[in-house]
Amino acid sequence: MSSVGDRPSLAVSDVTVRFAGLTALDTVSFQVEPGTIHALIGPNGAGKSTMFNVLSGVYQPAAGSVRFGGVELVGLPPHSIAGLGVARTFQNIALFPAATVEENLMLGRHHLTRAGFVGAGLRLPFAVREDRRHRARVSEIAEFLGIEGLLHLPAGELSYGDQKRVEMARALCVEPAILLLDEPVAGMDATETGEVATAIRDIRDGLGISILLVEHDMGLVMGIADRVTVLDFGRLISDGTPAEVRADPEVIRAYLGTGHEGGRQNGAAPPAPAVDEPGVAAPPPSPPASESRPAFNPNDFRDDAPPAPEAEPATAPAPEAEGAPAPEAEAELPPDPGERPAWSWRENEKKEPPS
Ligand code: ADP
Ligand code: MG
Repeated sequence: MSSVGDRPSLAVSDVTVRFAGLTALDTVSFQVEPGTIHALIGPNGAGKSTMFNVLSGVYQPAAGSVRFGGVELVGLPPHSIAGLGVARTFQNIALFPAATVEENLMLGRHHLTRAGFVGAGLRLPFAVREDRRHRARVSEIAEFLGIEGLLHLPAGELSYGDQKRVEMARALCVEPAILLLDEPVAGMDATETGEVATAIRDIRDGLGISILLVEHDMGLVMGIADRVTVLDFGRLISDGTPAEVRADPEVIRAYLGTGHEGGRQNGAAPPAPAVDEPGVAAPPPSPPASESRPAFNPNDFRDDAPPAPEAEPATAPAPEAEGAPAPEAEAELPPDPGERPAWSWRENEKKEPPS
């Protein structure tokens, strides 16, 4: 592993993404410094996943630039961006459930193999050596994340928390310089969240890899992030250290939903009022709208925060437009044990689809 000093930074400049009349990202700029944990936060629909899709080449922005070191990423296809050392995990689990953990991790190394499937299939000596080398590296990475005991189990049989760690391991198998993690602890209990937090810190400290983290668990974000960028309705509203951001009135207003003067731009419908009857889970519109929020404790976020509002009815998980394998595992989440009170990020979860 190279040292942090020669790793590139990721510079996002004036990125704008529009979907049929809705500006999902509006001239957003921020920079992820090498070897840091940088959190990208904001209420549902703020544009976080859209930003990840831009950074990984899934979406082409209408305007703006993303430079990784000296290289412009906008316009490159996802596999080229991955080849430059930008790895990501998906908000919904995207493992092959019938394949073993080891096989899933080996897939993460596919772009690094030279023998290819034919050479490997014929058991050519070069291919055998290469395969052995990659398996050794996979074991090392699994050990690093504490999942070495799971390598021979089918990924689909693992607990949700373990599957999330396998996903993280697979992303590390790409040998990235930066890791984009989309909600790595969504649906986890406090113990699992703590384990993942430790893993993320270890990745930064032990491997020198930068991490851009989308996460709703403010306890986690405030605990591990070096820097935080806050989006709301596609616009950057705050950027700074965790302490700076949590004291920013704009951020408090966005999170606690005490009025949003600007409203949704581009004529999209204003947030719908909160629905009171629980259990009414209207399926989200297509294209993907905001996901349901597992847990958020405003007390983690603001010391003098009012008591947590009542949980809003859960919405069905939205399909991700990321071409990932079906996220079966996410449908079977155990309920949160309740250490962190459930709290949805205000009404814009239920806003209208873009027209
Ligand atoms: P977040 O991840 O912060 O919850 P998203 O990036 O998923 O937010 O979404 C930002 C906004 O863009 C939302 O209003 C969402 O409905 C919209 N959006 C996201 N993806 C698409 C898409 N493929 N087509 C149309 N609208 C989309
Ligand atoms: Mg998202």
